[in-house]
Amino acid sequence: MPLTGKSILGYASAEARGQSFRATNPATGDQIQPQFYSASTEDVNQAALLAERAFPQWSAASGKTKAALLRKIAERIESIGDELTSRVTEETALPAARVKSETARTCFQLRFFAQLVEEGSWVAARIDQADPNRAPLPKPDVRSFYRAIGPVAVFCASNFPLAFSVAGGDTASALAAGNPVVVKAHGAHPGSAEMVGQAIRDAARESSAPEGIFSLLFDAGVDVGVSLVKHPSIKAVGFTGSCQGGRALMDAAAFRPEPIPVYAEMGSINPVFILPGAMRERAADLAKGTHASVTLGAGQFCTKPGILVAPADSSESFATPLREMMLAGGDFTLLTSRIHDAYLSGTKARASGQGISKISQPDATPATSGLKVAPALFETTASAFARDPKLHAEIFGPSAMLVTHSSREELLQLARSLEGHLTATIHGTEDDLREYADLVAILQSKVGRLIFNGYPTGVEVCHAMVHGGPYPATSDGRSTSVGTQAIYRFSRLVCFQNFPNSSLPDELKDENPLGIWRLVNGNQTREPLSSKTRATSR
Ligand code: NAP
Repeated sequence: MPLTGKSILGYASAEARGQSFRATNPATGDQIQPQFYSASTEDVNQAALLAERAFPQWSAASGKTKAALLRKIAERIESIGDELTSRVTEETALPAARVKSETARTCFQLRFFAQLVEEGSWVAARIDQADPNRAPLPKPDVRSFYRAIGPVAVFCASNFPLAFSVAGGDTASALAAGNPVVVKAHGAHPGSAEMVGQAIRDAARESSAPEGIFSLLFDAGVDVGVSLVKHPSIKAVGFTGSCQGGRALMDAAAFRPEPIPVYAEMGSINPVFILPGAMRERAADLAKGTHASVTLGAGQFCTKPGILVAPADSSESFATPLREMMLAGGDFTLLTSRIHDAYLSGTKARASGQGISKISQPDATPATSGLKVAPALFETTASAFARDPKLHAEIFGPSAMLVTHSSREELLQLARSLEGHLTATIHGTEDDLREYADLVAILQSKVGRLIFNGYPTGVEVCHAMVHGGPYPATSDGRSTSVGTQAIYRFSRLVCFQNFPNSSLPDELKDENPLGIWRLVNGNQTREPLSSKTRATSR
């Protein structure tokens, strides 16, 4: 289907009347057709009201119905695979192989959430039966479960044009929970956004889903996103991007007459700790693995290792090969001029900052066009790092900082000085782990995911994954944006007290018609309530 450049409002398209803009090819600097048009205030209102109207029907839809739609969206995306790959590649300069694997991940996520809601136990139903004979007061019958929260605004990420964008994890988890979604496209890849948006709209229409469960808004600036977050019909927000952008949306949501939760995934420097045993055993391999992780995707991953913490007395065996690999350069094109400018100013400021003892960066390639940059390795000491908060800032792109320490206490002090991050990695032996048990204890309060003898880039989509972390890594460190537990961001607990069985939702009925796992009087079971217990308790 040809691109129109117009926002999608339910099953209709917006008028082409707002400010126009075009995507830019980051590799060449060329502008790409067609023109896209910013959504108007009326368009934002229409998308939010359609979502509000669709909510009662979609939130009451069965797990089977929601799963069928999620699977149909995946099929639709797969059916435009080649066309989509070429548009995403043009808009992001990401290699086709990466785009294809991101498409596969996106479709896997949709099907993973389909499985989750079809099985149904995610609602975490709990039943505490009544005890009319309890003294001094009778105990009521209390039953609770998770249900959808309401229309969700989703902001696409620049660095994941598919897996964290229009049909990405936020949209999949919000739709799976039973919420309509209004997506704000990222200005860097509007064509990719429209292609996936058309796939969702067509899948929804074909599935006879209520109009308004999906809309897609374009904007040349930030006004549409802010209006969306402030719209009274919107009940939660999912965001991946900068601390500045995430914080602006958190504040806008908090200042609404009815504040709403914002789940923003923002910056992280993902510290990597190399303990003495690992350094002795495999310093050269660690340098190679770390270089690959720092430069993967031109360093544009939220899980990129930003600081590498190593003992000063043994760091040369690791630092020397790492410096050489950094100085060898590479072909690193950044996604947007905003990210490119932030990388250039961030690396320049760090290079001239206090406490930096060494910089390994090849002379920048004289780029004739596009957004190419050179990788950079900075070096400092743990005491300088602990003193200067500027050294804690994330530099998005192919750069990292080696931080050396001279004592165990310095290492622990550094760990204590960290803000919230998404991940922390420890390279060590089992003896190291025992000796540094207090490091592990400190890091548990600083990050969402601890990795042993691996690298933080590459986030498995599975049931147990935690892709989150204390502020400022995310706006709410109790949540994850990857894996099936992401569904709990867009759902809320509701409790029924002393309701007759016939009026309860299926998830909470005595006979357990959905066959889901429930916590009944403190015990996990899929059994219906026995007629005997029912007779005594209701
Ligand atoms: P961004 O500037 O935060 O933009 C993300 C989205 O939020 C875009 O849709 C943007 O709209 C919107 N937005 C930004 N500021 C806003 C505001 N004040 N009010 C309302 N909406 C706002 O992030 P980016 O463009 O992806 O990259 C910039 C920097 O973000 C990077 O250099 C990096 O530091 C960080 N980043 C972090 C992650 C991560 O995973 N943690 C991922 C990507 C980027 P427009 O598209 O219309 O501008």
